[in-house]
Amino acid sequence: MHPFACPICSRLQDVETSFTKCGAPQYDRPLPDAASQLEMVPFLDYEDKDRYHVRRCPSCATLYSYSLSSEYQVNGSEDEETLTRMTVAGATVFQRQQARLLEALRRDIDDTEGSAGALGDYIDHGHPSPAEAEEAFEKMQANRARALHGREHLRVQVEAFRGTCSEILLIWAQAHRRVCQSFIYSLRTSPRRPGFDVQTAQYVARTTLEAWEALPEAGETYIPIPAVYLEGYLDRLDAELKG
Ligand SMILES: [Zn+2]
Repeated sequence: MHPFACPICSRLQDVETSFTKCGAPQYDRPLPDAASQLEMVPFLDYEDKDRYHVRRCPSCATLYSYSLSSEYQVNGSEDEETLTRMTVAGATVFQRQQARLLEALRRDIDDTEGSAGALGDYIDHGHPSPAEAEEAFEKMQANRARALHGREHLRVQVEAFRGTCSEILLIWAQAHRRVCQSFIYSLRTSPRRPGFDVQTAQYVARTTLEAWEALPEAGETYIPIPAVYLEGYLDRLDAELKG
């Protein structure tokens, strides 16, 4: 739907501002009512969400950036809000940036779980001295705790986007799906390599694809990428999410 045809967006100019002066309500000029019908996008990576955030129209999905600036004056501080409708290109830039931040969270869990696994192998098979084993065990536990924390953070974020801004999840999941499909295709035709289990790799690519197909709506919120079987996966993904 075009913003002008939307019952909420049609009541907002491309740029709206408000003005409030502390102790002087006669100068108050609030944002139009329609601004409060927009929903805040629970986006990643901004410190002060009262001062800067992104809002989304629940009726047509148009995005707006919101900022609040305050200026201290001796006779009462002045607040000014600015609500700016994003262009289609601007919205795409924002959504891709958020998809890349989600991917960074996901990748950090992969890395941390990988480190914990490697330390476990070292303890079991690396013949460490008791002191070395103890040190490795502590590191492994710390990595596991960090990975659990990361999974929880990602789960909360993905579920929040499912409710309010699934476009971001669609961009993220679609990039993964394209990479999985490219592996499914290339594994079918690639020459056999000694020591490389093509059937397992194909299975991994297919199940990973299925998980990404489900993610925008339901299912697991953390999907690990078994890079051992899908060599170069992350480079292909970075190319998909670029720009
Ligand atoms: Zn709208």
